[in-house]
Amino acid sequence: MSFAKKTVQHLDCAGKRVFVRVDFNVPTANGEVTDDTRIVAAIPTIRYLLQKGARVVLASHLGRPKGGPEPKYSMKPVKVRLERLLRMDVAWADDCVGEAAEAASRALKDGEVLLLENLRFHPEEEKNVPAFAEALAKLGDCYVNDAFGTAHRAHASTEGVTHFLRPSVAGFLMQKELDYLGKALDQPKRPFVAVLGGSKISGKIDVITALLGKVDRLLIGGAMMFTFNKAKGLATGKSLVEDDRVEMAKAVLEQAAAKGVELVLPVDCIASTAPDGTAPGAPVKVDALTPDQMGVDIGPESVKLFASKLADAGTVVWNGPMGIFEVEAFAAGTMGVAKAISVLKEKGAVTVVGGGDSVAAVQQSGMAEKFSHLSTGGGASLEFLEGKVLPGVEALENEGAA
Ligand code: ADP
Ligand code: MG
Repeated sequence: MSFAKKTVQHLDCAGKRVFVRVDFNVPTANGEVTDDTRIVAAIPTIRYLLQKGARVVLASHLGRPKGGPEPKYSMKPVKVRLERLLRMDVAWADDCVGEAAEAASRALKDGEVLLLENLRFHPEEEKNVPAFAEALAKLGDCYVNDAFGTAHRAHASTEGVTHFLRPSVAGFLMQKELDYLGKALDQPKRPFVAVLGGSKISGKIDVITALLGKVDRLLIGGAMMFTFNKAKGLATGKSLVEDDRVEMAKAVLEQAAAKGVELVLPVDCIASTAPDGTAPGAPVKVDALTPDQMGVDIGPESVKLFASKLADAGTVVWNGPMGIFEVEAFAAGTMGVAKAISVLKEKGAVTVVGGGDSVAAVQQSGMAEKFSHLSTGGGASLEFLEGKVLPGVEALENEGAA
């Protein structure tokens, strides 16, 4: 599989209208952006295009409008924040398609920016209706996708539009995602260690199976460890066990053995009677949970064990928190693993975190800069790790193509 896609650097964009799909799906409250991380992340691509004399047309979705315009999902607060970040005026179109938007795109001069209203005010966006994609394509002369987080969905602005706009290339943010995730999976420095956790084995089984074919070691924490423990015949108390996945867990254990992958499960866990943190937790041996106790985190011995299995890693891919990290009393396992991984980058390892909650946990740990890459796309990064082809990536031109 080739992840090498043409990027904005291959684009001859001076004087051209460049339609850029960005991920400005930011939280807002009272008409203001409350966290501009995603806008900031798109600035390098926008700045680069502006410096090259392009006329930049920005399109994004925000929230989940129910098939029509809804003021609370307007991109207007984004315009205000974007103007502040770019230190320049940004033109505006009340609708992402149609004559007014086309006129606004044609009115742009070199080095100017236009922001379009929410793509998902049209249900045709998510349905990938060709006529709608064609209408979007009228706003640009070429196409850039810098929205990795929606690349796993074939929507009009991520896939459909590329049939009408050429060339179609990746922005810097997209390129970074493909570089880190792609290289980690395709040419990993070994040992390649994957750390998996989170709540459900059912949502992660494809990731587990795909990684089993690639990694040297697989460390498993989070609630899914208990489904594995059940498969091994250990007591699991009130822990979150997916009874219908016990057979699957058995199969994973067998596959790991057959493939020579070292599968490491926790030796202890934090036992509590209240997952919301209202009752204290205490470390117990992993097979010592009583019927009224739930395993809410991996224990201190397991953090040590995992750290020792990570110490010599050349590549680490981490998805899924080790425990209920949202509750401070049950965050130690996740933070301990974050710490163990955080020392590896400066030793030359590539360390990548994917998944919405996992990335949030790393950010919460204050050690985000000590990771090679935090993937911005929750669902998209998971599908990438599963080895799936992302339609929004597939649609972009391959490097080396004429
Ligand atoms: P990501 O978003 O990184 O892919 P998931 O969504 O799979 O991660 O899992 C995150 C959730 O898993 C968190 O809300 C966390 O509270 C929960 N979780 C982790 N360990 C446990 C556990 N032992 N019991 C119950 N929930 C858990
Ligand atoms: Mg999640």
